[in-house]
Amino acid sequence: MLNLDLHSHSTFSDGTLTPGELVARAAQRGVAVLALTDHDDTGGLEAARAAAAEHHIRLIDGVEISVTWRGQTVHVVGLGIDPSDAALQAGLAATRGGRADRAEKIIAALEALGITGSREGAQQHASNPELIGRTHFARFLVKQGVVKDIKTAFKRFLGGGQPCFVPHQWATLGAAISWINGSGGAAVLAHPGRYPLDTAQMRELLAEFRDLGGAAIEVVSSSHRPHHYAAFAAHARQFGLAASAGSDFHSPQESYHDLGGLPALPSGCVPVWEKFSH
Ligand code: AMP
Ligand code: MN
Ligand code: MN
Ligand code: MN
Repeated sequence: MLNLDLHSHSTFSDGTLTPGELVARAAQRGVAVLALTDHDDTGGLEAARAAAAEHHIRLIDGVEISVTWRGQTVHVVGLGIDPSDAALQAGLAATRGGRADRAEKIIAALEALGITGSREGAQQHASNPELIGRTHFARFLVKQGVVKDIKTAFKRFLGGGQPCFVPHQWATLGAAISWINGSGGAAVLAHPGRYPLDTAQMRELLAEFRDLGGAAIEVVSSSHRPHHYAAFAAHARQFGLAASAGSDFHSPQESYHDLGGLPALPSGCVPVWEKFSH
């Protein structure tokens, strides 16, 4: 069976491995096709491409775009995009643009709780200055000994409803899909099992996603448990969407699921990668 992993992060967003290290690890673990999908940024693709050639694995150019849908953050992965596409790059730059201000608000919220030094602390973990995110603050909180792990940092401070959560307006769903499609890519709704939506709302999201030109949803994801695989496979079939699979790998120390070795898609799914096999 082809070992594919269509969702992963490098130091160009909130991963801890450089693109080269990520590709080398994927190759070592038997991945044949890897998509690098950094948040709102494609800066790592060039180095990843060079490493993929060296390690004889196939790299899919990807990105994971932050979107606000009805006040809720959802992520849309673009696969097989053209990183040189001007409209895509303008859209990603605009989406990244709000991160610096948001980081200042997170810093202020942490200070209000008596936690100082988070600006420098988070920056230490953010090697892409345009892409400061909550994971970098979470790593700072772990390093300071405020929390024992990243998960607890989100649970107590940075996650939705917690004191240092700063609401933010990301791209619209329609814009993200059109940037991806306009650059020749396929839009994939990332880890749908993670969104706090009831069944009716999920169906509305899937219908809207498809009607706006979305191609697939992640069925197999490290954010999903086995019951999600079956549920989202059924959703994909019902809505005429293809299925994707990705580890959403961020770090050897932090990720639940390492690169590759993902379970197979449930039967009846149309794999999104059929669009890339030529
Ligand atoms: P941001 O785009 O800055 O809001 O950060 C989102 C990132 O935070 C996600 O891509 C994950 O890497 C990370 N994240 C979100 N929630 C959690 C959580 N509960 N536990 C661990 N990491 C999380
Ligand atoms: Mn992330
Ligand atoms: Mn995501
Ligand atoms: Mn991700």
